[in-house]
Amino acid sequence: MNLYDLLAARFPADRTRPAFLLADGTAISYGQFEDDVARTAALLIDHEVQPGDRIALQSEKSVAAVAVYLATLKVGAVFLPLNTAYTETEVDYFLEDAEPVLFVEDAEAFVADARTREPLLPTTPRDGADLASIIYTSGTTGRSKGAMLSHGNLAANAQALHQAWGFSADDVLLHALPIFHVHGLFVALHCAFLSGAPMVWLPKFDDGQVLAGLARSTVMMGVPTFYTRLLANPGFTRHAARHMRLFICGSAPLLESTFAEFEDRTGMRILERYGMSEAVIITTNPLDGERIAGSVGYPLPGVDLRIGGGEATGVIEIKGPSVFSAYWRMPEKTAEEFTSDGYFLTGDVGRRDPDGRVWISGRAKDLIISGGFNVYPKEIELILDELPGVTESAVVGVPHPDFGEAVVAVVMGQGDEAAMIATAREKLAAFKTPKRVFFVEELPRNAMGKVQKNLLRDTYAGTFAQAEA
Ligand code: AMP
Repeated sequence: MNLYDLLAARFPADRTRPAFLLADGTAISYGQFEDDVARTAALLIDHEVQPGDRIALQSEKSVAAVAVYLATLKVGAVFLPLNTAYTETEVDYFLEDAEPVLFVEDAEAFVADARTREPLLPTTPRDGADLASIIYTSGTTGRSKGAMLSHGNLAANAQALHQAWGFSADDVLLHALPIFHVHGLFVALHCAFLSGAPMVWLPKFDDGQVLAGLARSTVMMGVPTFYTRLLANPGFTRHAARHMRLFICGSAPLLESTFAEFEDRTGMRILERYGMSEAVIITTNPLDGERIAGSVGYPLPGVDLRIGGGEATGVIEIKGPSVFSAYWRMPEKTAEEFTSDGYFLTGDVGRRDPDGRVWISGRAKDLIISGGFNVYPKEIELILDELPGVTESAVVGVPHPDFGEAVVAVVMGQGDEAAMIATAREKLAAFKTPKRVFFVEELPRNAMGKVQKNLLRDTYAGTFAQAEA
């Protein structure tokens, strides 16, 4: 079934109900929105868009951009969202690689033009395996890869999440995420649409606007930085969160200290989940059971998750209805990242505890091999994060003439390097103990709040160069 029909079938029977509550106090009803989608679909057909054609969009976050997304699904075309921060050179690569028939740079103008068309009513039928979207991975090494997600992938995940997180028509979802990434685009929008629920629609995260929005919301989805920024605002209190039933977090690791501080402040536990462009959401902490800091919870129903490599900790491998089929036009890369029995190698390293909960220790490519020993950065970061003066730490490996790689810690905060190394050494084997600690005001992060370890590795690459002399 076409994902569009699945979502639209759940729009509220009373189409005057709001779909988007805007910051200026106005609302866009489900009826108005559905009409915009149908007229935009008509405009796409006028542009001779065929099923399977790609439609690229690099536009500021807006309701119109969401209408372009749904209209693309409706006509059976393939949605290609692009990060608004991409430069022209970067965009050129995506356009050459994906060969879209249309590139929408101003969604508002596109939809305004569509309003002069008659609405297109029938939806182009699609099979579960038909392509719905291509999501380019952030690609910190090598060429960015386009993860191909089908109607079936997205529908399966949306239904599983709607159920797992207990969404209903009584919910109001606070949406402050960007919509060029799976989190804001699929996870958030699909949960709201399947509930026929309104969204408090914010162009971006702004703590003041989010605080105001919380007063009329019941669920919020965010990345860890949303939560650290909220906690930094004294206005964020138990009272401010009084209507909220659920705070969901993912896309980057949530610090245990953030989880704890959040619980102290609001009496609620953040629900952390784990996902990626290639599979949307993979695991989640339970809605009703215990949510544990540091664990990303259990695999969603239907997801088969195992740890590769024969050790307790290893690369997480997954199979399931939401797992993508291939990287766009990269058959070799695709083959490398699936096992012979069909599991996708996520590239994340983790373990499962006896209860079946999943714990992530970092990306495989961030693994440090020092003097022949494997060092998982997360183990060291957890210890450093506990030390006074440390807000957050990031541990990376940099070239070392003797050890191959050496452990280096970059700490957001202040402290004494020698003392910190000595304290860490009390808890860690010598080969795991950072050889140097650098203090910074801010760690470099991408739009989803992920610490960009590749940048840290570059910055500190020369740290031990002297020793070569
Ligand atoms: P992306 O494809 O940009 O969504 O990035 C996916 C990656 O984000 C995953 O492979 C993980 O490395 C990371 N990630 C997502 N959620 C979590 C989480 N809750 N904890 C730790 N890492 C996460």
